Amino acid sequence: MSKTKPTDNNSLPFLETKKSVAKVLNNYIQTSKDCKGNVLVQKSPQEIAEELNLKELFEKGFKDLTDLESFIKIYLKHTNHLRNPRYVGHQVAVPQDLSGIPDWIHGTINNPSSLYEMGPSGATLEGFMINWMLSKLNWFKGNDLYDFSNHKDNGSGTLTHGGSIANMTALSAARAKIAPESWMEGSPKDLVVMGPSTSHYSIVRSLSIMGMGKNSFIPVPVDTNEVIQTEALENIYAQIKKDGKRVMAVVANACATSTGLFDPLNKMADFCKKHQLWFHVDGAHGAVALLSKKNKHKVNGIKYADSIIWDAHKMLRVPALCTAVLFKQQEDQWNSFHQKGSYVFHENEVVGIDSMPYTIECTKSALGTKLFWSFALEGKKAISLFVENTFQQAQDLYTYLNERIDFYCPYIPQSNILCFQYCPDKLSNIQQLKLRYALINSGKFYITSCEINGERFLRTVLSNPLTQQEDFIAMANTIKSLAEALFFEKRQ
Ligand SMILES: *Cc1c(COP(=O)(O)O)cnc(C)c1O
Repeated sequence: MSKTKPTDNNSLPFLETKKSVAKVLNNYIQTSKDCKGNVLVQKSPQEIAEELNLKELFEKGFKDLTDLESFIKIYLKHTNHLRNPRYVGHQVAVPQDLSGIPDWIHGTINNPSSLYEMGPSGATLEGFMINWMLSKLNWFKGNDLYDFSNHKDNGSGTLTHGGSIANMTALSAARAKIAPESWMEGSPKDLVVMGPSTSHYSIVRSLSIMGMGKNSFIPVPVDTNEVIQTEALENIYAQIKKDGKRVMAVVANACATSTGLFDPLNKMADFCKKHQLWFHVDGAHGAVALLSKKNKHKVNGIKYADSIIWDAHKMLRVPALCTAVLFKQQEDQWNSFHQKGSYVFHENEVVGIDSMPYTIECTKSALGTKLFWSFALEGKKAISLFVENTFQQAQDLYTYLNERIDFYCPYIPQSNILCFQYCPDKLSNIQQLKLRYALINSGKFYITSCEINGERFLRTVLSNPLTQQEDFIAMANTIKSLAEALFFEKRQ
């Protein structure tokens, strides 16, 4: 027997500690919102590790509350401040101020939601939110969102840690449909997947992981703004058949990660219906258009899909990660993983909803609670308004940049993503990229960049309700002066 027994006592008092953390976070939120301080200052990992005093804390722990508080303050200093209105970077939700509460509760009770008996509340909230998402697609056949039974022709779905896993889940279900023997015997060699050449990389990566190989993805050409050319579908399909292959799924972008433009889902749905092909809509970013009366038409045809994915941590203000993978026919989900572990799947005795049989993950966090919370904080309407506003922000930025002669926008935005170039007649692709780094290293703004058809663009994703016209003007002017300092000064 060891002399010192482990204890289950925190050395720090619960309530007092939470209160002091809340105070520090509140200050973080307010200063970020007020645009005080930089969006991002990047130090090297060595510098951050030293400033945080990681080695000592790791050995000895926090001495007292002051110790912990100072750690959190330094930690927060070295973060990307998403709440700063001049953060217009990646497709990552700017959360509501109180979005962190479900993570706090989960972190305190640790009830994974994939087995009902390990967390009935979390699993119920997941079931409820899935019902609601299905109802948005007309795939819910219950009488009311509290109806968790398996109605005939019902849709179904589950929440996963992210869109990449969700895409793989949907593709596995598509394979189980066309080639159920794959689960035992491996993938037949004649299966291919068609989709825009600009499909998210997680599609091809899933196919590789599933043992089908990268080459099983048959890219369909896209137009200059990376939207699928539906006219090409028939010819490519004919060639696939001629080569003796079978199409396991057709994938659509709704919307494309780079440009935020939507593939014409109706046309793709018609094509899939005609040839009886599985239709998968990658709605990671844009499925949210379903919530906006004004923007719904952009995903017309989505309800004809067999499967869709929808990221809540991009556009529904949910902190990472939370994605839904949804199926029009529940049987398709039931059949996707033919694997039984006797300790978890005892169908006849279980109460409630177990999502475990249908997920790649085993343990997962209470994702439904996070998703529900987003709505519960302000009510459903506020989320729709938020979505509509982000789409409008991209329009406004477009209108502003399009009026300036020194900026070029290649398309009218359809979502909250907008790409542009500064003086494309004078600056090369490499120089556009250099501008992006100069801008983010200034700490004043955070934007991303992408390639569209091999050309480099600056890219913004608008998802902060506080970002407004004056920020657009300041951003454009900062880009201009950086470009002058970097590329034009010598000539003057
Ligand atoms: C972001 C995105 C994904 C990947 O989702 P993660 O949640 O980041 O894994 C997949 N497809 C599209 C179209 C996306 O925009």
